[in-house]
Parts: sequence; C-alpha cells; structure tokens
Amino acid sequence: MAVLDDLFFLLERKGGERYGQEPVSQVEHALQAATLAEAEGAPAGLVIAALFHDIGHLMHENEEAALGGVDMRHEACGAAFLADWFGPDIARPVRLHVEAKRYLCATEAGYFESLSPASKHSLQLQGGPLGVPEARIFAAEPHGEAAMRLRRWDDGAKIVGAQTAKLGHFRALAEALVLPDAGRRRSRL
Ligand code: FE
Repeated sequence: MAVLDDLFFLLERKGGERYGQEPVSQVEHALQAATLAEAEGAPAGLVIAALFHDIGHLMHENEEAALGGVDMRHEACGAAFLADWFGPDIARPVRLHVEAKRYLCATEAGYFESLSPASKHSLQLQGGPLGVPEARIFAAEPHGEAAMRLRRWDDGAKIVGAQTAKLGHFRALAEALVLPDAGRRRSRL
C-alpha cells in the first residue's frame, strides 16, 4: 500500500535523525511510544497513532525549528495527513497530543516537572499550560483521553537503548487500519 510505503520509508529514511534535543532518534522515539502503547494493551488504532504521532516532524525539513524559537505545529500537519488515510481514532489523538501536554501541565501536579528539558522548552513555544476555558474544551474532547495516553507514552519514549519491537512488527497492524475508501487517493508525501 503506497501510503504505508511512504510513512514507513519516512521513519526509516529520516528516522535516524535525532529527535530534537532528546537523546534518542526519531525512529527510536516512534518505536518506543508504539511499544509502550502495545504493552499497555491499547487499541490497535492508538498503537499506530503512537507510532506516527510525530510524523509531522519528519515531513518538515527544518528539524531544528524549536531551537530557533519556532513552533512548526507538527501535530496539526501530521494529523491532517493521517486523516486522509486513517480514522479519527488515529488522527485525533495525534492532533491533540501537544494540547494534552498543555492540559496535563495545567491540571496535574508534578506533570510539568516530569517533562524533559526539551519538552519544557517546546511547551513555551506551544502556548504554555492551557487556560481554564481551553482546558474545559479539551476535557470534553471525545479523543482527549486517548490523546493523554499517547502523551504519556510520548514522554516515556526517550530512553537510550530501550528494547522495542521492530518497525515491520507494526506494518500489518497499520495496513488493517487504512480506511477502505482511502486507496483511491494518492499519497502527498
Ligand atoms: Fe513525540
């Protein structure tokens, strides 16, 4: 399936690049997040959302944007692409995983302190903790819970040398989740 060739190729080809200022590569980060999701018994869609949650970073050329003080809105760009091919159970948690961080920073004691230095830095570029009205909207989001689960795997997927499943392990799972009418479209990657 062409779109999956493209998505897995992106992870393979660009995945060796460092994940921002974190000590792991993009593909290690993606695999650790998906492996954590699977280990927790998450639904298949959420495992694949975890695998592709930062695909928007790999679609951008300027990986060092956060260092330059620019937020590339990788979650919106990744989710917009994924929404052409997969259901909202995959695209929405990806779209909301940054907002989930902002929500957790606003509502959960100790969450901000638990973030990595790079994640604390990007929080500022992303708008900081959610205000009360925004937090209320997030709390009512149908995919908000899933986005928070994804967020915690994201936060935990920065361990140097962690054992994970290989990329190929997730291929059949992803293939089964491509929407039936999506095959007529062409990948825009
Ligand atoms: Fe991430």
